[in-house]
Amino acid sequence: MNINETCHFIYVCPVCFGTYTTGFSLFRLSDRKPYRFRCADSVCGSACAEIKKLNDGKYRISAQCPYCGETHSRTISGSELWTADSASLCCPAFGIKLFLYGGDLDKLSHELEESALDADETAGPDELFIAPGTDPILAEILMIFDRMCSEHSVNCVCGSSDIKFDYENNDILIICSRCGRKKAFAATKDNLLRLMNASEVIIGG
Ligand SMILES: [Zn+2]
Ligand SMILES: [Zn+2]
Ligand SMILES: [Zn+2]
Repeated sequence: MNINETCHFIYVCPVCFGTYTTGFSLFRLSDRKPYRFRCADSVCGSACAEIKKLNDGKYRISAQCPYCGETHSRTISGSELWTADSASLCCPAFGIKLFLYGGDLDKLSHELEESALDADETAGPDELFIAPGTDPILAEILMIFDRMCSEHSVNCVCGSSDIKFDYENNDILIICSRCGRKKAFAATKDNLLRLMNASEVIIGG
């Protein structure tokens, strides 16, 4: 059994969707205070995840989920953390890995990619998948649209609320599945603010 001299961690920022990698010896973790993983973007800098050594020799990891907005956590044994090549914490709602840890960095990066690809493939037309690295304004707009669609607040003048999304250049296209009417929506900060205050979006209105 190999002991990880360096344990590598990959995490995804819940705010800007940046993916970051760091690694250190597990000897650095004390049971007095948790180690916090922060977004490395100097503007964003959001809290992303933390790992804490518990009194009983186990470790607790928790991460802010960029996909569903909840905090996910897991308690792992010391032996798993010290010896794993690659292991991860997944979002139970979307099945996407959001925090990966282990001694084999290549394997971890590969697993993160696979997880994102799987999620992309399995997402049906009505499900929303926002890839890590997506422009934060675009990601936020898509999340608002997703919520509005589930509340039937995006409607077409034809009476349908069966809506699809697509991209064209930098615009989000909101498309009525029934009649095909489209509305282009640029992913700008102004539009994001307008959308946050909107109770309804009408296609063809
Ligand atoms: Zn960030
Ligand atoms: Zn989640
Ligand atoms: Zn329509």
